[in-house]
Amino acid sequence: MSGYKNRILRVNLTDRSFKEESLSEELIHDFVGGRGFGVKLLYDDMKPNSDPLGEENEIIFIAGPLAGTNAQSFSRWKIFFKSPLTGGYFMSSGGGYFASELKYAGFDAVIIKGRADSPVFLWINDGKIELRDASYLWGLGCNDTHTLIREELRNPKVRIACIGPAGENGVKFAGVFSDRRAAGRGGGGTVMGAKNLKAVAVHGREKIDLADPAGFSAAVKEQVNRYKASPRFKHFSETGTQTPEFTNVLGIFPIKNFRGGVLPGIEKMDGSVFTEIRARNTACHSCMIHCGSISKINSGRYRGSWSEGPEYETIWSFSGPILCSDIGLTVAADNVCDDLGLDTISTGNTIGFAYELYEKGLITREDTGGLELTYGNDEPVLTLIKQIAHNKGLGELLAKGTREAARRIGKGSEQYAMHVKGLEIPAYDPRGAKAHGLSYITMNLGADHCAGYAGQEIFGAPYKGKAVDRFAVKGKGEMTKWNQDDKAIWNLGIMCNFATGYIDHELYGKLLSTATGRQEFADTDYLWLVGERVYNLERMFNIREGFGRKDDVFPERFLKEPMPVGPSAGQVFEADPLLEDYYRARSWDPKTGIPHEDKLKELGLDFTIGV
Ligand code: SF4
Repeated sequence: MSGYKNRILRVNLTDRSFKEESLSEELIHDFVGGRGFGVKLLYDDMKPNSDPLGEENEIIFIAGPLAGTNAQSFSRWKIFFKSPLTGGYFMSSGGGYFASELKYAGFDAVIIKGRADSPVFLWINDGKIELRDASYLWGLGCNDTHTLIREELRNPKVRIACIGPAGENGVKFAGVFSDRRAAGRGGGGTVMGAKNLKAVAVHGREKIDLADPAGFSAAVKEQVNRYKASPRFKHFSETGTQTPEFTNVLGIFPIKNFRGGVLPGIEKMDGSVFTEIRARNTACHSCMIHCGSISKINSGRYRGSWSEGPEYETIWSFSGPILCSDIGLTVAADNVCDDLGLDTISTGNTIGFAYELYEKGLITREDTGGLELTYGNDEPVLTLIKQIAHNKGLGELLAKGTREAARRIGKGSEQYAMHVKGLEIPAYDPRGAKAHGLSYITMNLGADHCAGYAGQEIFGAPYKGKAVDRFAVKGKGEMTKWNQDDKAIWNLGIMCNFATGYIDHELYGKLLSTATGRQEFADTDYLWLVGERVYNLERMFNIREGFGRKDDVFPERFLKEPMPVGPSAGQVFEADPLLEDYYRARSWDPKTGIPHEDKLKELGLDFTIGV
């Protein structure tokens, strides 16, 4: 088989057994790969109402059909699981070299369930499978874990996806880390920790066959030419996403737990400042964009700190929420989160929530153990991060995520928990970007910024040839559906979100079809059908778990408190008309949020009807 390795590995940690399967014709044809494979496998395998931290939950690692080839920017890996943070379907994705190495080791997917009776790591070595003792790694950070596994295996080229103490300690937003690239969101690391699974290590030398090598080479050449010809290629290669001012100028850079959209002093963190602290650029496998970077702080309180990144979301996570514009803090906090195994977005959002509760007297100095959580005071942040990862002090409460922490605190604190479906909201205020917000509120994952990113509102990209008014309500339902389905299409091959703007669906289809030999993948109408199918199957996973319109909700702050100042001043999020427009565009019942039967049949999802 070409493109794919045609092998899925199933691991049951409870009885330490392994099984291999081939990819079925139905799976390949109907779901193409990547996100399509992930949702179908998880939907089929999981019983409804399973405990996310129980043996029955799975964590599925997937590499896309183009990973490991020389097509550009297809190096991302995805994990799929039922989220301990949201209780629903979840996928998260990381970059680097893990995906290509998994393919070279012989597999498209690894499905892990059960629970080991003591800590283990999974070692996949050129098709050979082994579970090894990880007791000596338990409690260690991700950096040491990478080093020691490579030493044990006597192979510096092994690629590793691991958890840190946060995942071991049951922090609800622990991520999975591979060479400091994170599949951070939703608690994949928490699921691994509950399974006593410290890491998955992979290495291999298998080749990836191509169905039409000459056609594939021509398509890759065309892709490279398009990258080079793009006016934004050079700039993005040099700066990556280290440019936080792009949302500040729109007035949607959230500050003080989403009480405003303009950060005073943001110029201290603008792109030129990051250029000064950039030690070097880094890249993922087979990506000429090389947008990553190693940053080093040479002065101030955080002198000596370094990290790979931080990227835009992390820069926001440790600035806006606590009203701090010290670039040193973002670098230091990024480093600590990566090592301890925490999602930076949920961590920063949750700390911002604690600052507001402190301001309002809902938690006191006694609760914080003497930490002074006043806006502008960045001193407690690194301490709080460590407390969260180790479930100590106030961190024990914050480690549950904002929704659960608010439930435990009570006293009306729920209104200050800024999440959707339990997933903390990222770095764009939805009041000043309505389609972007509509995607947050309707996403099956909760408030995810990637899977329906509204570039039309954030960067002024045209939609169907026309400019878009970011404050407008009308037409945003259809546009949000388009954005979400489009992202689902790119996620089939698992192309990096930062690279999708350089090529179109036609060229993408050519890459997929020449690699795999599947002619239907060259048909862009077919890709749109599969994108919509995948999105709706994710919805049906959640419907089966009891989700519906009642969960497509924002905190009241966005609905009732107009943005106070700045370029989005006066804006609120008009949830009802936006949602109605969206459900209509999706052919979902506006009262329940459940896809209509006709829509499910049209998408070939008959097997989900009536779940
Ligand atoms: S664009 Fe950046 S993050 Fe994406 S694959 Fe390339 S180097 Fe990695």
